[in-house]
Amino acid sequence: MNPIIGIDLGTTYSCAAVLEAGRPRVIPNLDGYNTTPSVVTIMKSGDHLVGHMALRQAVTNPENTIYAVKRLMGKKMSSQELQFVAERYPFRLTQAENGDVVIEAQQFRMSPQEISAFILKYIKKSAEAFLEAEVRDAIVTVPAHFDDHQRQATKDAAKIAGLNVLRVINEPTAASLAYGLEKQSNSRCAVYDMGGGTLDVTILEINSGVFHVLATNGDTYLGGEDFDHRLVDWMLDEFSRENGVSLKGDKLAVQRIKEASEKAKKHLSFTEETEINLPFIFSDSSGSKHLRRLLTREKLEELTKDLVKKSIPYLNKAISDSGLKPEDLDDIILVGGQTRMPLVRRSIREFLNKEPNDSMNPDEVVAAGAAIQSAILSGSISKLLILLDVTPLSLGIETEHNTFERIIPRNTTIPVREKKPFTTVEHEQKRVRIHVLQGESDKASDNTSLARFDLIGLAPEPAGVPQIDVTFGIDADGIVTVTAEDNKTGKEQSVEVRPSSGLSPEEIHRIIESMVNKEHPADDKIKADKHESET
Ligand code: AMP
Repeated sequence: MNPIIGIDLGTTYSCAAVLEAGRPRVIPNLDGYNTTPSVVTIMKSGDHLVGHMALRQAVTNPENTIYAVKRLMGKKMSSQELQFVAERYPFRLTQAENGDVVIEAQQFRMSPQEISAFILKYIKKSAEAFLEAEVRDAIVTVPAHFDDHQRQATKDAAKIAGLNVLRVINEPTAASLAYGLEKQSNSRCAVYDMGGGTLDVTILEINSGVFHVLATNGDTYLGGEDFDHRLVDWMLDEFSRENGVSLKGDKLAVQRIKEASEKAKKHLSFTEETEINLPFIFSDSSGSKHLRRLLTREKLEELTKDLVKKSIPYLNKAISDSGLKPEDLDDIILVGGQTRMPLVRRSIREFLNKEPNDSMNPDEVVAAGAAIQSAILSGSISKLLILLDVTPLSLGIETEHNTFERIIPRNTTIPVREKKPFTTVEHEQKRVRIHVLQGESDKASDNTSLARFDLIGLAPEPAGVPQIDVTFGIDADGIVTVTAEDNKTGKEQSVEVRPSSGLSPEEIHRIIESMVNKEHPADDKIKADKHESET
């Protein structure tokens, strides 16, 4: 049997694992590292570099080195969250016809799914080399708070990479599987997962091998990247104050500062102070200027304390939604690299009055959990483990006056199906239009539009007579499905779904073909003269 691997496709780093002799084992990548930077450099030739090789290009070739692409997956260019982060990227972002994000590098236009596919393909290749077997199937993790578009985009990326996704699981839930595998006793725990781009908090009950998620909460735009940006802004301001020169428009300098910021931030998790030293960051007729500063942990905490503070209400809400009190929790599991920051740990400890559990490797535990899930699905694990997860976001429809009517409320255990009857309001009405949304606002327009669909071919009848049952479903991957049935005839009613985001099956096919024919990264060239780039 071909091995099934678990993949944590992270914002800054990705990791893969496999179950060997009943225990998860991290798969080293082709460069020998346990984690792979989620970074891709597009070369002028159309070839690309992935991981550490790409990371090394980030400073010299910032316009063509794509990082933190996970924040762009399944997103519209116009989305509110993107407004804050889009201008931070040194590479060009534009808009697809359907409003989705398009990345431009060298003379190519690519979707975030294609960039993620390069990372996944590299992971697939690494796993095949390590396991000496073809790898086709995978479990892929996503932040619990990913909506349907983001999940679908992740699945599409895997498909482009030649992987068959057996299941999409939530990152904190995966972490809890790795934690619970070894545990003999029952426990109620919180998973606080702050990675490079996202925050997820999940409350679970683990009882005789049943992992029951009680509630989840989080923010898909709160993570380590935001901490780095705070440091970058501080250093840019300091440099400009001291030298009267702004480096903001200098992509190369900003990228150097960003790299140094992340390094310093990590260092300050273990030391009280560190030096940032960037020689020749700027040159003009008066000579060269250097950026050299001493950064203390205290200063870093001052610059980022509001980000940590912002995460606590999510923890609070998840606990109250689970019906538990903080004192009911047996353990708080820390996941994601950013939880190494002492301020994060201190804030959680102070809020819950309990020492967080840092016994798991926060970089590898999610992939390890995904590998365990692969063994559950394939039946190759002797221990009985059952996973009951929830939907993080309410699913509903738009009704009159821009109102959002919830059909499946958040924190409902998945998979789930809910039926809702619809009828007509006009005489001999031939179609009924339904707008499916996901989110928590009572205002329809504030939520994410998943799809609009028409129930068509209704028999001509007086208003209010037809009864069509529409079933809204969320599968175990957290992906939404909609079906309709004419109650009177029992016939399946046609549903014309127009997804408001994502790649069409034809586009996915075209991308796969172009990869097979080595027309990387896609055949969708833009004017080369826009990018007279260096590589
Ligand atoms: P992950 O997505 O779990 O790989 O988390 C990556 C994020 O964790 C990045 O923003 C890293 O900068 C951050 N990170 C990794 N190690 C540390 C550390 N020692 N201290 C603070 N943040 C860290």
